[in-house]
Amino acid sequence: MTTLARVEDQQFGPAGPYEIGSDLWPGLAKLAEEAGELIQILAKLVGASGRDRYYDGTNLRERLVEECGDLTAAIAFFTETNGLGAEVDARARQKLALFRHWHEQG
Ligand SMILES: [Mg+2]
Repeated sequence: MTTLARVEDQQFGPAGPYEIGSDLWPGLAKLAEEAGELIQILAKLVGASGRDRYYDGTNLRERLVEECGDLTAAIAFFTETNGLGAEVDARARQKLALFRHWHEQG
């Protein structure tokens, strides 16, 4: 019986540029990957007219939770590691207040 190696058990070489662990924009590659994964789920939700079950049986609500969490973590890692945290936090607070205002307006 073949056992698949877990990602956590795999040995990788030195981090390349943009990867977690590198010196050049660490976390950028992961941020792009996670943003793409969230976009994929959003597109499936639109394609399913908002229903939380995709035609292949995928629970889109569960996948949405996973990918929102993954992207939130990737953004937090990227911004804190690249010294962008305070500026991004300030911008995010402004945008969140604006979005809440728009939502209240209906
Ligand atoms: Mg993901």
